[in-house]
Amino acid sequence: MKQLTISEKLCTSCGACVSACPFGALRMESVAVVDCNLCTLCGACVDACPVSAITRPESAAAVPVTDVIWRDVWVFAEVEDGHIHPVVLELLGEGRRLADQLGERLVAVLPGHETQRLVAPLVVGGADHVLVVDRPELACFQDEPYTAVLTELIRRHHPAIVLCGATTVGRSLIPRVAILANAGLTADCTALAIDPKTRRLLQTRPAFGGNIYATIECPVSRPQMATVRPKVMKPLAADPARKGEVRLDQVADALLAARAVRIGYTAEVSNTANIAEADIIVAGGRGLLKAENFRLLEDLARELGAAVGASRAAVDAGWMPYSHQIGQTGKTVCPRLYIACGISGQIQHLAGMSSSDVIVAINKDATAPIFKTATYGIVGDVVALLPKLTEAFRAAKQRA
Ligand SMILES: Cc1cc2nc3c(=O)[nH]c(=O)nc-3n(C[C@H](O)[C@H](O)[C@H](O)COP(=O)(O)OP(=O)(O)OC[C@H]3O[C@@H](n4cnc5c(N)ncnc54)[C@H](O)[C@@H]3O)c2cc1C
Repeated sequence: MKQLTISEKLCTSCGACVSACPFGALRMESVAVVDCNLCTLCGACVDACPVSAITRPESAAAVPVTDVIWRDVWVFAEVEDGHIHPVVLELLGEGRRLADQLGERLVAVLPGHETQRLVAPLVVGGADHVLVVDRPELACFQDEPYTAVLTELIRRHHPAIVLCGATTVGRSLIPRVAILANAGLTADCTALAIDPKTRRLLQTRPAFGGNIYATIECPVSRPQMATVRPKVMKPLAADPARKGEVRLDQVADALLAARAVRIGYTAEVSNTANIAEADIIVAGGRGLLKAENFRLLEDLARELGAAVGASRAAVDAGWMPYSHQIGQTGKTVCPRLYIACGISGQIQHLAGMSSSDVIVAINKDATAPIFKTATYGIVGDVVALLPKLTEAFRAAKQRA
């Protein structure tokens, strides 16, 4: 087992390492002693020790940024049920911006089998380059071979940035890759940017229960890895004239072994409206006052062909099922039109809907924070306004 080495000769029992350890893994006896069950080899104690008495095992140390040239922005091209997952195109849109800022290439990494028809959407979606590993063993996602292949490609090509969707597949795959690559990983980012001075990736995500947004940098290890939930970033407009290169890499058979046996694929079945895919969403919050008033929202939704969403307050009150919750701990949505009814606009709700194209807010409090994000605002009693709005849309449709 890899563990810290503490030099009895050098240790002065000053205790700096004990206070520096974020995991409570060190205690002071005659010299510092490490509890290997708690130690993550993060290295905080190594940096804190004033007499260099602590060393990490060789392979636990992050790869120094300066040892090799890390360049290009990579997007993991997840395939779902034979198609490129929509989040990949969203990440290519964001990755394009980052790569242009760095003056580097945007690379889509596509492990799979019979991948030829999947390359074009990646190039049209923004990739300069598609890096393919095509093997029958990679026909469907499996943790072990995908982890081994992606890690091997990272070791071979040294990308500066690796982006992946925070999907079921991404959440399973990318932490494993980050561990094997000794890289940092920021999950569920809501914004990505490049620091123009350091050229580092600035990864912003909610922290401390969503009460603040933290921007995280990775100064000492590469690649810089981040996941982003579906619908947070915008895809580029597809450009069929865009040209890209394809490179086929070979990998050793040993990397393709899997201990798990795949027995099949079953798509998630839901009886409720899929708010994540809806073009129009009408969402209700505590301002609807009671469960029965969600019928008013459903009437409006029917008229608009919309899905019904809810704030966490409405879900916690039992007025709507959790599958309709929008926000940090619910779904992230990006409809063309979002109508927020009796929702105050707390940061955790905004995290799930603020990238909607047009936001209309109805709230009786003119100072409600939702009005800062809204494109249009209506100050008034939502319970009284909803039937009138439904009627107005119905009449307009009949006239049209
Ligand atoms: C870790 C964490 C995760 C969270 N995740 C989520 C999440 O995923 N999604 C989410 O939504 N929240 C989430 N929350 C909760 C979030 O902080 C807010 O508490 C929640 O969004 C508030 O819901 P609301 O706007 O419906 O209720 P309130 O904040 O109570 O707002 C109700 C609004 O309705 C207005 N109103 C009242 N009566 C009327 C009326 N008759 N007509 C018009 N307007 C009226 C009020 O002026 C007020 O602005 C999370 C919180 C934490 C700590």
